[in-house]
Amino acid sequence: MAILLGAIADDFTGATDLANTLVRQGMRTVQLIDVPTGPIDAALEDVDAVVIALKSRTIPAADAVSRSLAALAWLQTAGVRQVLFKYCSTFDSTPQGNIGPVAEALMTAMGVDFTIYCPAFPENGRTIFKGYLFVGDGLLSESGMRDHPLTPMTDANLVRVLAAQTTRPVGLVPLSAVLAGPSAIRSEFGRLELSGTAHAVVDAVTDSHLHRLGEAVAGLKLITGGSGLALGLPANFRRQGLLPERGDDAAVSADLPGATAVLSGSCSVATLAQNAHMRARRPFFQLDPLALAEGDAQIVAALDWAAGHLGREPILISASAAPEAVRAAQDKLGRERAGALVEQALARIARGLVERGVRRLVVAGGESSGAVVQALGVTALGIGKQIDPGVPWTVASGGGGLSLALALKSGNFGGEDFFLRAFA
Ligand code: ADP
Repeated sequence: MAILLGAIADDFTGATDLANTLVRQGMRTVQLIDVPTGPIDAALEDVDAVVIALKSRTIPAADAVSRSLAALAWLQTAGVRQVLFKYCSTFDSTPQGNIGPVAEALMTAMGVDFTIYCPAFPENGRTIFKGYLFVGDGLLSESGMRDHPLTPMTDANLVRVLAAQTTRPVGLVPLSAVLAGPSAIRSEFGRLELSGTAHAVVDAVTDSHLHRLGEAVAGLKLITGGSGLALGLPANFRRQGLLPERGDDAAVSADLPGATAVLSGSCSVATLAQNAHMRARRPFFQLDPLALAEGDAQIVAALDWAAGHLGREPILISASAAPEAVRAAQDKLGRERAGALVEQALARIARGLVERGVRRLVVAGGESSGAVVQALGVTALGIGKQIDPGVPWTVASGGGGLSLALALKSGNFGGEDFFLRAFA
């Protein structure tokens, strides 16, 4: 058993995004849902990378820490050579964390005094310059992330955001060092560590910067970042003779027969546009947190409605709403309760859809995907072909031996026609 890379992802769509990047770079990768309870499975014998998907982004920081440490313990037992803590390319966090507290706990458990932070994902418009995170042409704090229902991001300066969540000093590896190449980046790590800096945010604007950074972190036991940070990691293992040359033939086939559906619980800008596109073309059912707070009636109605529309062409069941509507629901129900009601409804509807013959399901939203995948009893995901950057089809295992293809889409990923193109 020689798992080279072990990753801990703070949400399920992010885990899939990372697994997708690794598969496309020729690493055979399995995504596990939560920390496995049993011994290490024989199915993992031929795997190069394991991504443990947690739903730990918005839970209390102490819980996120304990789940992440359990994931680390499992990965260490599996003998991984390097650990990657994966979070969103928009650095989604609450004022209490959870990125900083989890990273510091992993550092302590692994006995390391220094790690790096790089959520850049240039292909999806996330770049970092002078420590500021940009989404497309504007700052993170001026993007739709400002209005996120659970993790509104109102400061684009990652050094400042991280410093508010950590106990030890935070520094920056500037773009000039990244441009100068892996050895200059490593010198910068050394300089920061000597000056007592424990956490270094790293600038990166293009994929080539991420490849250089990837090479520079070969010797770090613990690294943290978005899926873009994984671009340069497989080459390190190849240089060490641990990973053969392979294309993305590691991808599994997700072309299953059966009915299709889209469940949307993200209120991110890209998902709202995808909802509008789909609504103009296919049958849809709108969920409303205020109605869900009244009891089960809307869930039952959604499933009854779906039964009359299911087939090879997808239908849409969505709670997605514009910022004003989300705020109105949150004012009445509270932020957490509104989110939990929608997540529980999507989870129950997903189970109902599968009982009614759905075998290919797109879920929009990180937390939403987490709720659905847990409700379906999925324990692992094999990674299939990419639909759009960061979003592959996956094939689920567990769930009572069910054959089910899932595409878990992070809220802000995918083109406007994503929901229909996924099934094309
Ligand atoms: P993203 O990937 O865009 O961050 P998530 O699913 O992670 O999406 O988060 C969206 C959150 O918003 C979820 O907790 C979901 O339950 C909640 N939500 C969805 N629709 C509504 C709504 N209409 N009102 C309030 N909260 C909502």
